[in-house]
Amino acid sequence: MKDVIEQKIREQYPKAGTGSYVTEKYLSYLSDHFKEDLKKMLFATSVCADDINVSTDFRRVLTRPFTLGGLGGIPFAGLTGMVAFSHHIPDNGSAFIFYGPHIGITDEGELGKMRRPGQAELSNSCGALMLALSRLEIEDEVYVPMNVEYDYQQVLLERSVMPYKHDILISDNRKKAITEVTYKNIDRQPHFLIRKAKDEFRCKRIYLLGAIIINTSPEFHDYVEVRNFEVIELHHLEPLTTESILQQEAFKVL
Ligand SMILES: [Zn+2]
Repeated sequence: MKDVIEQKIREQYPKAGTGSYVTEKYLSYLSDHFKEDLKKMLFATSVCADDINVSTDFRRVLTRPFTLGGLGGIPFAGLTGMVAFSHHIPDNGSAFIFYGPHIGITDEGELGKMRRPGQAELSNSCGALMLALSRLEIEDEVYVPMNVEYDYQQVLLERSVMPYKHDILISDNRKKAITEVTYKNIDRQPHFLIRKAKDEFRCKRIYLLGAIIINTSPEFHDYVEVRNFEVIELHHLEPLTTESILQQEAFKVL
């Protein structure tokens, strides 16, 4: 049965490995190849708030996680969160950020749903993304996510997928497509926030690991398909300076 589920996962995510395999692989790489002292590496995540997302074991080895992510995995902690994270890194230490959306898979291989621990029925995973998808699929009116203070993460998550509505709706698998779009949306954020907070970091390196997390039934491992592994050397990084529009060439020749 384990082989069957693995095969179904690989049909959708050919490069996926179990969470524990990916954890081991990257932690060994960081300590053996980059000679990092893992005890001095501060860990942050930008994964969905969903309780199911403990599928990697990084938090068992690395110090805590600083939680940057909210619904869908978007780093809702924003610049303030990234700056706080930068200030918490141990002296002579480094930073490691794991980020990405998650998607469930049933024992039959259906994406977007999963059987959760202690439950017989299937439920959506990622619930927030599947809710966003159901709103994109409304046909008799144009759905516009309106901001409300009691649900602002969901509203912002929905706004982040709206520009890709057409591509999602014409895709073969909408649930997979909205997850891919969200991976790209999340992936941009740590890069932007790190450049914006560059001068706050006192460490030399930040490691980024971006992935799609695939949640399975409780008796199986969760899987992770790594999409990005990146080493940011902070002294090489250009800070993000805001340039006045008046200084841009295009403006000068208006
Ligand atoms: Zn979720």
